[in-house]
Amino acid sequence: MSHQDLFLTFTVAENRKENYRAQTLVLDAPLPAAQPGQFIMAWLPGIGEKPFSVAAADPLTLTIAAVGPLSEALCRLPIGARLWARGPFGQGFKLEGKKLLLVGGGYGAAPLRFLAQEGLRVGAKVCVCLGAKTADDLLLAEAFRSLGCTVWTATEDGSAGLKGLVTGAVEAALRDFRADGLYACGPKPMLLALVELCRKHELPGQFSWEALLRCGLGLCGNCELDEETCKAAGIPTGWLTCKDGPVSFLSSPGR
Ligand SMILES: Cc1cc2nc3c(=O)[nH]c(=O)nc-3n(C[C@H](O)[C@H](O)[C@H](O)COP(=O)(O)OP(=O)(O)OC[C@H]3O[C@@H](n4cnc5c(N)ncnc54)[C@H](O)[C@@H]3O)c2cc1C
Repeated sequence: MSHQDLFLTFTVAENRKENYRAQTLVLDAPLPAAQPGQFIMAWLPGIGEKPFSVAAADPLTLTIAAVGPLSEALCRLPIGARLWARGPFGQGFKLEGKKLLLVGGGYGAAPLRFLAQEGLRVGAKVCVCLGAKTADDLLLAEAFRSLGCTVWTATEDGSAGLKGLVTGAVEAALRDFRADGLYACGPKPMLLALVELCRKHELPGQFSWEALLRCGLGLCGNCELDEETCKAAGIPTGWLTCKDGPVSFLSSPGR
């Protein structure tokens, strides 16, 4: 058994409101081995255990949307409360090139914040496109701006940024920003649209997929990505989101 299979105990050092339903929990210790795109399994006894992306590793930081029993309980944790985590798990993003285009939908912004920090640290230029239903649902736009990223937003109702889906913001951003690669995290329909957009622009892409993930270790098979998605995204069938992913890679023949 490796140390990754064992629970580490953390204490909440800060609990910050990000929007009407998302909080950022800053914990009291680092998770030094964690890479952008990897996740931890967070556990609250009596409530449950689920995957959450590493939003920063030092100290370990999670950004959580309150949508159900576990995420609501995590978002309500007061300073000083304990939570348990095992990990880091999964294959994260690989930083390639000097011009990174990051695309997030929903809580998909969480791992991208860590990626943006790492990209900026090694001297890359980082442009971020964020999509949401309304202005109130946008997540971490200010956080990306204050890191030094260029930020484009798109909302379905037009209440902030461009009106429509995030793919419209990506097309607009690509007119000014000659990206070396696209890095995305969010709901499946968004990722599938971005796979097509990468093919159209001959742009290499990295995509972090959502799945119902249980063991986190590649044992239970619960998080196998469906065949149709694998086919559309150029992923081998039988791909396990927890162990083979959550990030998949699409190369570009043109680069
Ligand atoms: C690799 C990976 C990384 C993840 N990282 C994060 C993260 O950084 N932050 C985060 O908040 N979540 C993240 N999740 C989702 C998280 O694991 C849980 O699924 C989520 O918090 C809901 O769990 P719950 O028990 O609170 O609610 P559930 O009872 O599981 O869900 C309640 C209801 O909300 C719906 N739902 C679930 N997730 C969402 C959502 N994001 N938006 C809208 N509706 C939803 C469900 O379909 C269900 O109807 C990640 C998932 C994966 C697979």
